[in-house]
Amino acid sequence: MTPEPEKPEFYRVNLIIFIGLPLVALVLLPLRGLDQGYGGLLWLLALVFLYLNGLSITGGYHRLWAHKAYEAHWSLRLFYALWGAGALQNSILIWASDHRRHHRFVDDNERDPYCAGRGLWFSHVGWMLRRYKSGENDLSNAPDLQRDPIVMWQHRHYLALTLAMNVALPAAIGWWYGDVVGALLVIGLLRLIVNHHFTFFINSLAHYWGSQPYTDENSARDNPVLSFLTYGEGYHNYHHIFQADYRNGVRWYQWDPTKWLINLCAWLGLARNLNRVPDFKIQRAMLAMQFKRASNQLEKTDVEQPLREKLEREYQIFSDSIHRWKALQAERYERTVEDFEDALAQKKAALLQKWERAALRTRLRELEYSLKMQRKRVELLILQMQVSTVPAA
Ligand SMILES: [Zn+2]
Ligand SMILES: [Zn+2]
Repeated sequence: MTPEPEKPEFYRVNLIIFIGLPLVALVLLPLRGLDQGYGGLLWLLALVFLYLNGLSITGGYHRLWAHKAYEAHWSLRLFYALWGAGALQNSILIWASDHRRHHRFVDDNERDPYCAGRGLWFSHVGWMLRRYKSGENDLSNAPDLQRDPIVMWQHRHYLALTLAMNVALPAAIGWWYGDVVGALLVIGLLRLIVNHHFTFFINSLAHYWGSQPYTDENSARDNPVLSFLTYGEGYHNYHHIFQADYRNGVRWYQWDPTKWLINLCAWLGLARNLNRVPDFKIQRAMLAMQFKRASNQLEKTDVEQPLREKLEREYQIFSDSIHRWKALQAERYERTVEDFEDALAQKKAALLQKWERAALRTRLRELEYSLKMQRKRVELLILQMQVSTVPAA
């Protein structure tokens, strides 16, 4: 393989979109604003457009198409395809294929298209400005998307669709409102640029700034502040370990409007088979991460013997819980495939199965709960270790 030149050739169209348009906006928006001002309705509609574009990227491009975290009715897919085209971030096909490579090769300078290790600017927007090898299209990871007629229709008519959503629609609104230029500047241009950077934060800042409660095997971070700007995608550490989950913020209090939208669509019958990672696995990942931190601490510092022993005992409990959980899972699958001869036997078996399932569910819940409690204990142990240790010589 020939090494990539330090600075490959520029991508002219992308330079115009990502550098040219913001420069134009910087001049025209205040000029025209100071001269005539912009109507309140234009601001409100720009906000509506912003959310429709943003949620079509996060709920459609990202969670539906790139990760297949749920299934959507064709009308919802069409909606995402149109408003997603309005976000001007390339077609679903290219976007989702790039994104699958990002997950597969995360932090690999050569193969992750927006590798955070190459710098904040590169992962934010720099990766699109030049023809980097790591950014070359390779659709071999998206045969499923090539079978989706809506994806392919959007891909073929991308230019027309994005012009319709970014220019024709704002212009039509402006014509109706009596301010075509104002509508083009606020709903068209400003909203486009703001949405660009809000969504790009997921590739840049969400790999730099925040905590790593689930894994430190990659650079992704959880960050509630970023979640407000990224339509709920700020729980990026969670997302990188459980990418097939339709949720990013798994707790009810975590800001994830994309998850709420998908829930709403499921309620309306437009989405189904929402993929949720079992709570046990989530707790397990968090505990495993805590044990990793604790053992790092043990290596670095002199920890009192009783604390060491406590930690070892906790680890034993943790391993036991995992074994028990695996055994319960196996039982769950065994019991659903039984065959019975006559109707009465089937009825009896069905009732018994129902009871067994309920019992299994209870045991699973208990295990989940015990992990949650253990997480709190280990957290305290780590704190104790921190205050009662002196750095090793
Ligand atoms: Zn990422
Ligand atoms: Zn993703």
